[in-house]
Amino acid sequence: METFDADAVVIGAGAVGLSCARALALKGREVLVLEAASAIATETSSRNSEVIHAGLYYPTGSLKARLCVEGRRKLYQYCAAHGVEAHRCGKLVVAVDDGEAAATPALLQKALANGVEETRLIDGAEARRLEPALNPEVRVAIHTEVSGLFDSHGYFLALQGEFEDRGGSLVFDTPVVRGAVVAGGIEIETGGAAPSRIKARTVVNSAGHQALPVARSIEGGPRYNGVRMSWVKGSYFVASGRAAFARLIYPMHNSATQGLHLAIDLGGRTRLGPDAEWLPEGSKPPFDYEVDPARAEHFYREVRRYWPGLKDGALSADYSGVRPKIVGKGQPSADFLIDGPEAHGVEGLVNLIGIESPGLTSSLAIGEMVAGMV
Ligand SMILES: Cc1cc2nc3c(=O)[nH]c(=O)nc-3n(C[C@H](O)[C@H](O)[C@H](O)COP(=O)(O)OP(=O)(O)OC[C@H]3O[C@@H](n4cnc5c(N)ncnc54)[C@H](O)[C@@H]3O)c2cc1C
Repeated sequence: METFDADAVVIGAGAVGLSCARALALKGREVLVLEAASAIATETSSRNSEVIHAGLYYPTGSLKARLCVEGRRKLYQYCAAHGVEAHRCGKLVVAVDDGEAAATPALLQKALANGVEETRLIDGAEARRLEPALNPEVRVAIHTEVSGLFDSHGYFLALQGEFEDRGGSLVFDTPVVRGAVVAGGIEIETGGAAPSRIKARTVVNSAGHQALPVARSIEGGPRYNGVRMSWVKGSYFVASGRAAFARLIYPMHNSATQGLHLAIDLGGRTRLGPDAEWLPEGSKPPFDYEVDPARAEHFYREVRRYWPGLKDGALSADYSGVRPKIVGKGQPSADFLIDGPEAHGVEGLVNLIGIESPGLTSSLAIGEMVAGMV
């Protein structure tokens, strides 16, 4: 088995790994990214809504809230500077009954406490002036102008280009199978066609769905005994016909999971979802990403609460993604687990576990945070 030394190793070339690699390279580190698949961002980073989130929903002071707001600002700037398409279309969170309307002021307060700019409460008439296809029953809405959509793949290519320009390299078909904390660093063992052993001063574990088993496979590293993964599949449908909305539309209903939202994607399609299907206990990757067409029934029902004009037969199944959760069903949502030397005591090691939404929006801020931890 070939053995060599490296300065910084990043495990996984999704949004988070690529951003960590870029941030480390910008700090002058020599970065090697190890990716199990044959291309960048083939897992959750290409199975999401591509929404640049404002940061309305997350508990104030949490990593999710802080990194989302900071990451969003950085992401718009990054897209503008690197020629990546981004559309700051804005979003309405709509309340269609009294219970939902009563909950909107608290959500607005949280948004303001999180530092979300250009966000206000509007009445139903104003919401319909902005979006005439909305249900006339809409009582009130939160209008935020800072949400948007972007070309995430263009962004990933820009990140890859940036760290490669600074001498970094990326190898595909190279799964990390185990590791060990050794004097002066961490030794990583890879599988694939050309297994090797790499001793690195810094290791960032951003293996997405596999981040917990990868962390546990590092002898002498933290065990995460109390952490258990659960998986929530999110399926999408597309609606045929001309786009009826200009903004992202989110229901207040189920706002904890952000409900079944509507977006006009960059290709002009009306995309609905994701829904939330807890996979059976004991499920593990690789997942079945097929979308069950029978789920359309639930989509018609939920979406028509705010878009009554959705026609029968308009929906067709699209794609799905799976959220990595570190809490079980019925428990309150957990924060990102971004665990560095200060928390676990292993010099040079950072584990990123449970990086669900808003991980894409937050990715630039996460990368900079991680580079600062090592
Ligand atoms: C349905 C859905 C919708 C979402 N919508 C949004 C949204 O609109 N906006 C937003 O901000 N966020 C959204 N998110 C969250 C966002 O997509 C994720 O937070 C983000 O993509 C996570 O990136 P990652 O790099 O951590 O993981 P991944 O993209 O999964 O990357 C992990 C990489 O690690 C590799 N890997 C795994 N094991 C190994 C190993 N042993 N060795 C080497 N490589 C390995 C994998 O092949 C993969 O390439 C959504 C998520 C889901 C599921």
